[in-house]
Amino acid sequence: MFGRLKIGTKILAVTGTIAVSVIVAIGLVSDFSTRNAFEADAYNKLTAVREMKGQQIESYFNQVKNSVQILSKSSDVRTAITEFNNGITYLTPYRNPNVETYYRDNFFKRYTENKGEIITAVNITTIIPTDLITRHLQAFYIMNEPHIVGPDDQDRTVGHMEYYNLIHQKYHPVFNDYLERFGFYDFFLINATDGRIVYSVFKEVDYATSLLTGPYKDTNLARAFRAAREASDPNFVKFVDFEPYVPSYGAPAAFITAPVFDQDKVVGVLAFQMPVDRINDIMTSNQQWSKVGLGESGETYLVGEDKLLRNQSRFFIEDRENYFDMITRIGLAPSTISKIRALDTTIGLQIVDTEGTTAALAGETGVALFEDYRGVPVFSSFRPLKLPDLDWVIMSEIDEAEAFAPFDDLRDRMIMLASVLIAITIIISYFFSLSLTRPLRLLEGAAKGLSMGQLDQPIERASGDEIGDLAEDFEGMRVALQHSFDEVEHQKEGLEIRVQERTAELDRAINKQAEQNLKLEDKNVQLQAFQNELIASKVAADEANKAKSTFLLNMSHELRTPMNAIIGYAEMLAEDADEDDDEDRLSDIKKIIDSAKHLLALINDVLDISKIESGTMGLDLETFDLEMMVRDVASTTKALIEKNDNVLAMDIDDDIGEAYADLTKVRQILLNMVSNAAKFTSNGTITLFAKRYTEGEQDNLRLGVSDTGIGIPEDMLSEIFEEFTQADDSTTRSFGGTGLGLALVRRFCQMMGGNVWAESVVGEGSSFIVDIPAIVIDQDAVAAVPESSSATLLTEPVEPLDTPTND
Ligand code: ADP
Repeated sequence: MFGRLKIGTKILAVTGTIAVSVIVAIGLVSDFSTRNAFEADAYNKLTAVREMKGQQIESYFNQVKNSVQILSKSSDVRTAITEFNNGITYLTPYRNPNVETYYRDNFFKRYTENKGEIITAVNITTIIPTDLITRHLQAFYIMNEPHIVGPDDQDRTVGHMEYYNLIHQKYHPVFNDYLERFGFYDFFLINATDGRIVYSVFKEVDYATSLLTGPYKDTNLARAFRAAREASDPNFVKFVDFEPYVPSYGAPAAFITAPVFDQDKVVGVLAFQMPVDRINDIMTSNQQWSKVGLGESGETYLVGEDKLLRNQSRFFIEDRENYFDMITRIGLAPSTISKIRALDTTIGLQIVDTEGTTAALAGETGVALFEDYRGVPVFSSFRPLKLPDLDWVIMSEIDEAEAFAPFDDLRDRMIMLASVLIAITIIISYFFSLSLTRPLRLLEGAAKGLSMGQLDQPIERASGDEIGDLAEDFEGMRVALQHSFDEVEHQKEGLEIRVQERTAELDRAINKQAEQNLKLEDKNVQLQAFQNELIASKVAADEANKAKSTFLLNMSHELRTPMNAIIGYAEMLAEDADEDDDEDRLSDIKKIIDSAKHLLALINDVLDISKIESGTMGLDLETFDLEMMVRDVASTTKALIEKNDNVLAMDIDDDIGEAYADLTKVRQILLNMVSNAAKFTSNGTITLFAKRYTEGEQDNLRLGVSDTGIGIPEDMLSEIFEEFTQADDSTTRSFGGTGLGLALVRRFCQMMGGNVWAESVVGEGSSFIVDIPAIVIDQDAVAAVPESSSATLLTEPVEPLDTPTND
C-alpha cells in the first residue's frame, strides 16, 4: 500500500509522521513529568502551611491550658469564689414577675431570629429559671440593664443585693481585665457544691443557674464543670468541644474548666468560654490566605470528631452566595444550610465527610486528591492534631484547578508550539519533497522518451545533487544508445545482404542434395534388386545343399545294398576258395572283401553325416549301464585290437553307474575312437576309460581311448575333427580311412551337449577324450519340433546306423 505512493507523498508522510511522533512523545513525557512536578509542589506547599497552622493551634491550646492552670491557682479566684458564695447566701429569694416577659420578649425573640426553626427545640418553660435566687440575680443583672446581655460596668443595688454587689464591684474589673488579657469569650466562677454560676463577666441567661440542677445541667459546660469538680489534681484542666449552646443563642460554644482548691478541697470551678475568633484568625491567617501561599482557593481548617468544621470556611467568608450554591448542589441538609445562614457561622455546622478527614481522624498523616465538602476536587494535606481532650484534625487544601492552572497554561502553550512546529515541519518537508521530485519528474519524462525511442532529445541536468548525476548518466546512456542503434542499423544492413547470399547458397545446396537423393534412390533400387538376387541365390544354394544331402542320402542308401550283396557273395567265394585251398584266389577274394567293407564303412559314414546335415538325425535317449556298454565295445573290438599285436586295457570307475543318453551314438563314438587307436598302434597298449565327475551341480561322464601309437602332430590336433581330414596324407595310404570318423564323433558329442578333444605326442601316443552330461537333454525336443521341411527332404525313412564291422 505504502509502496504504491509517490515519492513526494512518501517523504511528506515519513517526515510528517516522524515530526508528529517526536513532538507528541516529548509533549506527553514533559506533560507527565510537569504534571507530577506541579502536583508535588502543590503538596509541599500545602504541607508546609498545614504544619505551620497545626503548630500554631497546638501551641495556642497549650497556652490556654497554662493560663487556665495559673488562674485557677490564683488567690484572687479562690477568695472571689468564697466571697461570691457568701454574697449569694445573703440574697433574698425574689420572684420577679418580669422574668417571663423578659425571656419571651427579649431572649426568645432574638433566639428565634437567630435560630429560625430551632425555636421549637427549646422549651421555654425549661429555660425560664424557677429558682428564686437565680431569678433575683438575672432580673437585677440582666433585665434592668438597657443592654441586656453584655459587659456591665454599672453598679446596681436592688433589693437585698448590697453585699453581692459589693463583692461584684470588687472583682468585676479584675476578671474583666483577665478576659481581655487572655482573649477568652467569657469567664465563669461556679460553686462546686451546688453548681451555681456565681459570677460571669457577660451574664448571659446561664448566669446564676445551677449546672447540677438548672436548665443547662446537660450542656457541655455542665459536663466540664462536673469533671473539674471531681478532680483531685490541682493541675487538672478539662476541654469540652464545641456544641450548640442555648445561652449563646444556639451558637456553638466550647469551654475549658479547672478546679479551684482551698487547701485539699475543691471549692469552686473556674470556666472559660473558648473564643471562636482566635482559632479562626489562626486558621484563616486573618483572612490573608494568599499571603501564606494558599492562592485563590486554598484554606486550612479544623475538623472535629463529629466531622464538623471548627473554624469558618474560606468560601463562606469570601463568597457566601457561591458557597451556599455549592453546598446546596451537593445536597447538604436544608436545615443545616439555614442554620449556617441564621447563626452566620460554619463552625460546628458544616459537615466535612471527605476521604481526607476520614483518614486523618483514623490517625493518618498524608496527602491526597479528592472532592472537598463543596464537591470540588482539591489537593489536600492532612494530619491529626495533638490537643488536650480534643480529637481534631487539620486540613490544608487547594483546588486542583488552581494548583494546575500554571500547568494548564504551560500545556496550552506547548500544544500551540507543537502545532506550529508540526506545521513548519510539514511545510519544509513539502518543499523538500518538491525540490526532490521536480528533477525526478523531469528525469522520468526523459526516461519515458528514451523508452519510446526518442533518442535525439538531449536530457538536461536539473539539479546539482545525485538526481542531477543520475540525469547525466541517463544522458550518457542516451548517447551510447544512439550510437548502438546506428551501429545496429549498419550491421543489420550487412546482415541482410549476408542472409540473402546464404539463402541463395542454401537453395543451391538443397537442389544439389535433391539430385543426390535421386541418385541415392537409384542406388537403393539397384541395391534392392541385388539383395533380391542374393536372397534368390541363397534360396537356390539352400535348395542345392538340400539336394546334395538328399542325393548323398539316397546314393549311400542305394550303394549299401549292392555293397552288402558284394561282400556276401565275396565271402561265399572265399569259403569256396578256402575249401579248394586255392590260396591265390582266396587272397584276391579277401582283398575284394576288405575293399568292399571299407567302401561300406565309408558309405555309412557319409550317410550319417548327410543325416546330420539335413537335420534328420535325432537323439534316442535311454538309461543304460555304462560299464556294460564299455565292456561290450571292448569285446566287439577285441579282434581289431589284437590284429596289430596290441593289448587292451580297461580303466572304469567303480560304481560308474548308469547314464541317460543315446546308447547307439555313445557306442559309435567309442567304437570309432578304438578303431582309430587300433589302426595307428602296433605292439602297444590301448586303454578304454570311463569316469564320472561333477562340475558345479552338473553330473558328467568322461569317456575315452588312449594308445601308445604313432601320435598326432600338434598343429593337426584340432583339424582332425573336420570332415575328410587326416593328420597326414601318408597315413591314409598306409592305414586307410576316410577322415569322417572323428567328424561324426564330434557331431554326436555336440548333439548330446558334450565335447571332444585330443591330446597327443608324436611317437608316444594319443588320447581322445569325450565329456558328456550323465543325463542328456534333447535340445530339439525341448525347444521345438524339427522343421517339417527338412524331413520332407528325405525320400525314405532313416535307418539305424551300422557299425563298420556290422556286416
Ligand atoms: P580315418 O578314417 O582316415 O581314420 P578319422 O577321422 O577317423 O579318419 O581320422 C582322421 C585322422 O586322424 C587319421 O587319418 C589319422 O591321421 C589321425 N588319427 C586318428 N586317430 C589316431 C590315432 N589313434 N593315432 C594316430 N593318428 C590318429
